Amino acid sequence: MSAWEMNVRRVVPYVPGEQPQFAEMIKLNTNENPYPPAPGVKKAIAGVSEDAMRRYPDPDASALVEAIANYHGVAKEQVFVGVGSDDVLAMAFLTFFAGGKPILFPEITYSFYDVWAELFRIPYERPALLEDFHLDVNAFLKENGGIVIANPNAPTSIAEPLSVVEEIVKGNPASVVIVDEAYVDYGKESALPLVDQYDNLLVVRTFSKSRSMAGMRIGYAIGSPALIRAMLDVKFSYNSYTMNAVTIAAGVASIEDDAYFKENVAKVIATRERTTKALEVLGFDVIPSQTNFVFATHPEMLAGDLFAKLRERRIFVRYFKKARIDNYLRISIGTDEEMDCLMKALAEILNENAVKD
Ligand SMILES: *Cc1c(COP(=O)(O)O)cnc(C)c1O
Repeated sequence: MSAWEMNVRRVVPYVPGEQPQFAEMIKLNTNENPYPPAPGVKKAIAGVSEDAMRRYPDPDASALVEAIANYHGVAKEQVFVGVGSDDVLAMAFLTFFAGGKPILFPEITYSFYDVWAELFRIPYERPALLEDFHLDVNAFLKENGGIVIANPNAPTSIAEPLSVVEEIVKGNPASVVIVDEAYVDYGKESALPLVDQYDNLLVVRTFSKSRSMAGMRIGYAIGSPALIRAMLDVKFSYNSYTMNAVTIAAGVASIEDDAYFKENVAKVIATRERTTKALEVLGFDVIPSQTNFVFATHPEMLAGDLFAKLRERRIFVRYFKKARIDNYLRISIGTDEEMDCLMKALAEILNENAVKD
């Protein structure tokens, strides 16, 4: 071992879903949107001037911050933008979880939370979800150094009602409560109406799913001006220019076309409902989803085997080899045609399996 290795920060990185590069494949493994972004997005990108490329971008990303603030009816002092919600969440962990007490997030949730906690040396505890995968509210009403919940949760696709989120925010006035709403456009109520009432609530959103812009990397947080100020101080101590000029223009254009956005969301929800029924016809148990994916298990075939068989056919879904969920598949909602291909493949695979038995 070299002497310098003693001084290396050792971390076990987050493993994102694979991005295979086949021309022909059905990719339902990272909750990407099957439809393109609003047509204005591409135009806005093409319209970025060479001067804008030559110069440093606006460090405040003001155009995007203002567009988001107007869209949600909050002050621009209540908005923080970053390079995807992963960047926003990482900044929030670094900013708000410096107290030394363990932070809390559910045992089954977005698997980046424990990676950031490890990276930033933040102690954490992971209360178990209830038997039905709902949040155990009481486990989040004990002393802690901060709270993170994804609502709707991933990979379960379950959303808790706003009353549950409010109980947690209200019951923890000494902690910042981060609510990761990556999927909220497909689900129940947002916690945004609570931000003016509770100065310890930070709501985090992304353009990656419902706005079809995972490749552009835009996320944001909305909270009290005091929370946002604290995050900005950390951001400007780390990297002033997180948002580039092209991304800022693309983000503004997406926000400007609300009709397209709503239509896109409605299409994915319609396909989700159709997919749920089709999976049930094939014998799957499907958790009622409030997201752009479904979480499903089959009584006769192991999820790991189904995953491998689908993969052979270049149909990619997500499988987590993790206690309690290792017999589930997480399937992103694609186009109706893609879901039809998936159903056909699943029917064949299940049939072969039944014959073998
Ligand atoms: C997809 C996802 C994110 C990350 O989204 P980006 O904005 O693409 O970084 C964060 N949280 C949850 C729960 C997600 O599913």
